[in-house]
Amino acid sequence: MEIKNAIFLDRDGTLNKGIVKENVDNFKLRPPHNPEELHVFEDISYLKSFLDRYHLFIVTNQPDIKKGHQTKEFNEFINSSILKKINITKIYTCFCLETNPGCECYKPSPGMILNAIKEYNIEIKSSYFVGDTWRDVGLCKNTNMTSILMDRGFYGNMKNDFLQRNLTPDHIINSFAELKNIIK
Ligand SMILES: [Mg+2]
Ligand SMILES: [Zn+2]
Repeated sequence: MEIKNAIFLDRDGTLNKGIVKENVDNFKLRPPHNPEELHVFEDISYLKSFLDRYHLFIVTNQPDIKKGHQTKEFNEFINSSILKKINITKIYTCFCLETNPGCECYKPSPGMILNAIKEYNIEIKSSYFVGDTWRDVGLCKNTNMTSILMDRGFYGNMKNDFLQRNLTPDHIINSFAELKNIIK
């Protein structure tokens, strides 16, 4: 049977630990930039139980490479560390800056999801997105997809980002172990 449903996954802060960025007045997480900062969450193994019915895709913004804060090599190392634990159909990455004119992929823009729909014939109505920031929930709003907020302990810190944009996640979880209650 051809799989047409997808569970789209944000990467940093969802599959691996997000790093708290201190020096700004608004709370922000950034990706790990070195091996000491990289921690892939063990609970991603719960995603394996969906592999017979769902494609798994990672959908991630990675502006830090252009900004010069992250190397291409370490970004790849994060991906391969995740792929060692769970089988992902494809990783979609936007390397643009948020301010890049003409970029249609920086979340919450829907470009990466639209590409996945085209390439794998995905049925968006029966698909899900799991992510930790307003950008992920905003992306769901822009694509009419069910949003699942992964709260790794920072949702409270980021709540204003959601309120300002009038975004409410459809579901909130603290671990991928809870996904079975939402996705059948
Ligand atoms: Mg994230
Ligand atoms: Zn882009």
